[in-house]
Amino acid sequence: MYKIMPLKQAEITAPVGVTFMLGHMRVLTTGPVYVWVIEGDGEKIVVDAGIEEPQNGFVHGFPVKGGGEKSLRDALSKADLKPEDVDKLVITHLHFDHAANAKLFTNARIYVQKKEWKSALNPPMHYRQTYDSSMITPLEDMDLCLVNGDVEIADGIRLILLPGHTKGLQGVAVETEKGTYLLAGDHFYTYFNFFPPKQPLEFTDMAGNKIEIQPLQIPFVPPGLHVDLSEWYDSCFKALSIAKKANILPGHDPSLEGRVFP
Ligand SMILES: [Zn+2]
Repeated sequence: MYKIMPLKQAEITAPVGVTFMLGHMRVLTTGPVYVWVIEGDGEKIVVDAGIEEPQNGFVHGFPVKGGGEKSLRDALSKADLKPEDVDKLVITHLHFDHAANAKLFTNARIYVQKKEWKSALNPPMHYRQTYDSSMITPLEDMDLCLVNGDVEIADGIRLILLPGHTKGLQGVAVETEKGTYLLAGDHFYTYFNFFPPKQPLEFTDMAGNKIEIQPLQIPFVPPGLHVDLSEWYDSCFKALSIAKKANILPGHDPSLEGRVFP
């Protein structure tokens, strides 16, 4: 049985409309970049490798605080881990804020979906800014494992293909003493993507920005960045077939910081 720890490695700022489709594009919101430690009795497993250090405050055009090797080491140290100690690294997808520090996991088997790999090296036009081949191709010299679909990588840990946000995004299903949890990666950025507000909602984000959200009368609201909305909706129902809604952990929700699941 496992425990799941989302550890903040950086903060990234983007228009609200990036976190959910048709949201405001002129209002900015700041959210966390997490690396996830899955603690069990056996192997050391990490999901996602964080973002690089910003140049003049930006990474790929997005304002970023933290990031890079030092922040990754600081984050993992909260779970008494170093990247060199990790046995398995799962990369949910190869966007720049999930794959940047994978090269530091020198002793890990690295899991990426084959579809994601192909798409990252020849991305759809609107995704050219979100993939960086210089952080992807060096992984070929590591212990890279390109998988096809749903695969068990350890007792009680399964990779679940959830295409839509990208061609080969994978979630991670983790067995815990409170049932199956699903790390959804950027399939859901925040809880708003699968618990959309039914009343107008105002909240203050991590950077103190006031954000207003209008009610949305649909059960799932896609992220503003995606490759295929029909596939994205299919993947929502696939996610629900793996874990109950309350056990799905979105990729960038601020409320997860400092928590341990279950
Ligand atoms: Zn992404």
